[in-house]
Amino acid sequence: MRCPYCGSTNTQVKDSRPSEDHSTIRRRRVCADCGGRFTTFERVQLRELTVVKRSGRRMPFDRDKLMRSVQIALRKRPVDPERVERMVSGIVRRLENMGENDIRSETIGRLVMEALKGLDDVAYVRFASVYKNFREAKDFEPLLGELAATETKEESPSGKAAAPAED
Ligand SMILES: [Zn+2]
Repeated sequence: MRCPYCGSTNTQVKDSRPSEDHSTIRRRRVCADCGGRFTTFERVQLRELTVVKRSGRRMPFDRDKLMRSVQIALRKRPVDPERVERMVSGIVRRLENMGENDIRSETIGRLVMEALKGLDDVAYVRFASVYKNFREAKDFEPLLGELAATETKEESPSGKAAAPAED
């Protein structure tokens, strides 16, 4: 496995253990060249999924890509990586269980939104802003209203979330 820090392939497994529900094997690895430590997960793939974009374009489903977009939404949020891993695994399992090999990208976006809503409000709004292609602050209002109705915490997600880095 290539080191994510320096690109070396000279990495070693330090520790392997199954996740709580035994659906994945978690391996801690260390890079012999730069000393970087990272974790990989091994899991069962039940089905080859194809993502069908809004444009009709088709591409193989890529779990890592899904994970990356979730991680962008969760950037600097205090969420346990194991929970994120479980969330993404849950989404993939649901996609696999839909019984279709073709999955519309909107379906994936909807599942991610549902899952993030339970995990972290700020990440939810960030993801929704990209997924729903929000362009103006007023587009956030219905979403924030929806959150305010279910949320009793002091902190409001509006300030931080209203400035996506993309544009
Ligand atoms: Zn390295």
